[in-house]
Amino acid sequence: MPILPTFDDVTAAAARLAGHVHRTPVLTSRTMNDETGAQVFFKCENFQRMGAFKFRGGFNALSRFDDRQRKAGVVTFSSGNHAQAIALSARLLGIPATIIMPHDAPASKMAATRGYGGNVVVYDRYTEDREAIGRKLAEEQGMTLIPPYDHPDVIAGQGTAAMELFDETGPLDALFVPLGGGGLLSGSALAARALSPQCRIYGVEPEAGNDGQQSFRSGSIVHIDTPRTIADGAQTQHLGGYTFGIIKRDVDDICTASDAELIECMRFFAGRMKIVVEPTGCLGLAAVRNMKAALAGKRVGVVISGGNIDLERFAALLAG
Ligand SMILES: *Cc1c(COP(=O)(O)O)cnc(C)c1O
Repeated sequence: MPILPTFDDVTAAAARLAGHVHRTPVLTSRTMNDETGAQVFFKCENFQRMGAFKFRGGFNALSRFDDRQRKAGVVTFSSGNHAQAIALSARLLGIPATIIMPHDAPASKMAATRGYGGNVVVYDRYTEDREAIGRKLAEEQGMTLIPPYDHPDVIAGQGTAAMELFDETGPLDALFVPLGGGGLLSGSALAARALSPQCRIYGVEPEAGNDGQQSFRSGSIVHIDTPRTIADGAQTQHLGGYTFGIIKRDVDDICTASDAELIECMRFFAGRMKIVVEPTGCLGLAAVRNMKAALAGKRVGVVISGGNIDLERFAALLAG
């Protein structure tokens, strides 16, 4: 059993991130409050630097490198947003970065990663093991591997978004968080348990890739094949030892949303709230809509995790 990060690690991460991370806005929508009968607070990490919450965990992890690690550089694997987070954080801190990305990653994410100065190495997400490629590069070249979710400093950094949310809203009755490998959910759970102990915490996964739900219900980590879903930020095959340890202990349940439901939420965000949210970022709202009977009269937090999507793809999804 690994030693799990705690809320103290989240507050330490917040201090390291101060002045580097945006304090993203918390938005509300009369239309959504009317539709759900709840009071919904959206924590808008689509407005975070590089367009998603992942800057928080990446910057926190790289901030803790010693001189030798800074010199040798960082390596990571990611389907997109973590890659950009590491590339941007590394550039800001003067650390060389190597990023292992699937060859079919969204063009905007790959271009942004290169634009931030990251050295991109591509692999096939359906046939190759990105973790093995990462470990090999780390060993051969002395680089430090920072994985996208299963790392205490990454989890602590991701928890700062929910920390800011509670700071703004006070205690909530429920919190809905997109779930891929669980860095965001476990960090959010650390913040929620400390700042709003009665809050029910829900992770939300794509229906096609409900390994987290299966793991939560069976009590041990379930591995699945890479799911085919438009929620490319949550195409993970399994939770990690750290993230599952916290999720098992602190999270109340894990629900799922279909691709069609995610598209309806993208439409709502763009049409009513005038914000661009990537499919994965819509998971929280999709679950709230599915659970509205149980949420009437409650104060509900929703983490919008990111807004990185090619506009052509955004338009094509909305056009159906
Ligand atoms: C990575 C990502 C997620 C999932 O985060 P995990 O920490 O892997 O659970 C959700 N939404 C977006 C936009 C992401 O980039």
